[in-house]
Amino acid sequence: MTPEEFRAAGHRLIDWIADYRGSIEQRPVRAQVEPGEIRRRFASSPPQEPLGADQMLHELEQKIVPGITQVQHPMHYGWFPSNASLASTLGDIASSGLGTLGISWESCPAATELEEVVCDWMRQLTGLSEKWQGCIQDTASTACLTALLIARERVSEYSANRGGLQEEDKPLIVYTTEEAHSSVIKAALLAGFGRQNLRLVGMNPVTRAMSPTALAAQIEQDFTDGKLPCAIVASAGSTGITAFDPVSEMAEIAAEHACWLHVDAAMAGSAMLLPECRHLWEGVEHADSISWNPHKWMGTILDCSLFYVRDAEHLVRVMSTNPSYLRSSVDDEVRQYRDWGIPLGRRFRALKLWYHLGIDGIDAICTRLRRDLNNARWFAEQVEAAEHWRVLAPVNLQTVCIRHEPPGLEGDALDRHTLSWLSDLNRSGAAFMSPSKLDDRWMVRVSIGGEATERTHLEKLWQLLQSSAAEIAGQ
Ligand SMILES: *Cc1c(COP(=O)(O)O)cnc(C)c1O
Repeated sequence: MTPEEFRAAGHRLIDWIADYRGSIEQRPVRAQVEPGEIRRRFASSPPQEPLGADQMLHELEQKIVPGITQVQHPMHYGWFPSNASLASTLGDIASSGLGTLGISWESCPAATELEEVVCDWMRQLTGLSEKWQGCIQDTASTACLTALLIARERVSEYSANRGGLQEEDKPLIVYTTEEAHSSVIKAALLAGFGRQNLRLVGMNPVTRAMSPTALAAQIEQDFTDGKLPCAIVASAGSTGITAFDPVSEMAEIAAEHACWLHVDAAMAGSAMLLPECRHLWEGVEHADSISWNPHKWMGTILDCSLFYVRDAEHLVRVMSTNPSYLRSSVDDEVRQYRDWGIPLGRRFRALKLWYHLGIDGIDAICTRLRRDLNNARWFAEQVEAAEHWRVLAPVNLQTVCIRHEPPGLEGDALDRHTLSWLSDLNRSGAAFMSPSKLDDRWMVRVSIGGEATERTHLEKLWQLLQSSAAEIAGQ
């Protein structure tokens, strides 16, 4: 494809995307396809002849779009807000179009230096002190893995330079709670700690925040048993109910026992753009690392996960490789982001964050987040005021956990009722929410915060919920 052909096809694609985004509300929220249905639309052997740009666009619309669950739809309330603002999309397109290579400062000085700039802007915008230095990772999963790797190396005094964890005298222990995201468990396993060295510390039964007393007791016990407490992962906005672990008290315990403290704020980090929410992660200054995803609620298109550390030197010491073919004469004056994480080749992700801030602007982003917090409060009030409906957990931000509990339904029967009305509603395509378990019983998480979601959409949702549950209960 020549640049001129690209220009023509590119204009058509951008027009198509604009129409698509503009009419998203007319589509069903959840993809209306069965497993295998999309795959069967494609030949099993690769095409011999090229199709051309127009045919590709046609197939995109006909074959691909029906297989997309519309997370940009205003009636999407599943999982978490997965906003992909159009401003940031432009930055992402620019990043692709420039075709840069990020393997060293020299391979693209602009990618390195803009990343330094936007990470520092985001640091300021979330009220973090100058002690923090950041980078952009693909996801919070990668950031958490990186955090646990550097925690392991700090506490084991660089065991990787000896026999690794395989030859340590004492098993290293990681602490988190049952509410932590599955990626935390995965990171601990991948970093070599082993499941039996992972502690799920007790929580406050109502707030589901980690109990600092239980944490301190568990650490003492582990010392007594000849283990080496290593890392604590705090959830600042847990997956299920957006619970906040008490970062301040956890930081004190971590400092006392020389443990690493990582704060996983993947979803809720966006709220820290609002000064009035920052009390929720009070004490964060005393953590060792933090990650959060602008690619969730804030709305910078996926993938964009911020990872901050206080001791960048230690991070680089663990992560750096310095092969001869990547060396240059300016190495001691520049940052090499390949030494801040796992991949060598990195995308120019800073562009989408820069575009997002530069076009939408931080004030508009904050106004939208506040709108969502108000909408969540309003929605929770409706549910609380209605007969036989319950809000099951504190509404810390924009997640409202609810259940319809008609008289006489309990236990497994109640579970069947919950899953049944939810699945009917999700199947209809009118709205989408995800179920989750709380105290071993199914509930429905209404995760508010879509860029396009206004109060009118929540009014509509509340109507839909009531009629769907009433219909099932009446059967
Ligand atoms: C979404 C989420 C993650 C995982 O984020 P990825 O970027 O998809 O890896 C981790 N922790 C919490 C609390 C989350 O909400």
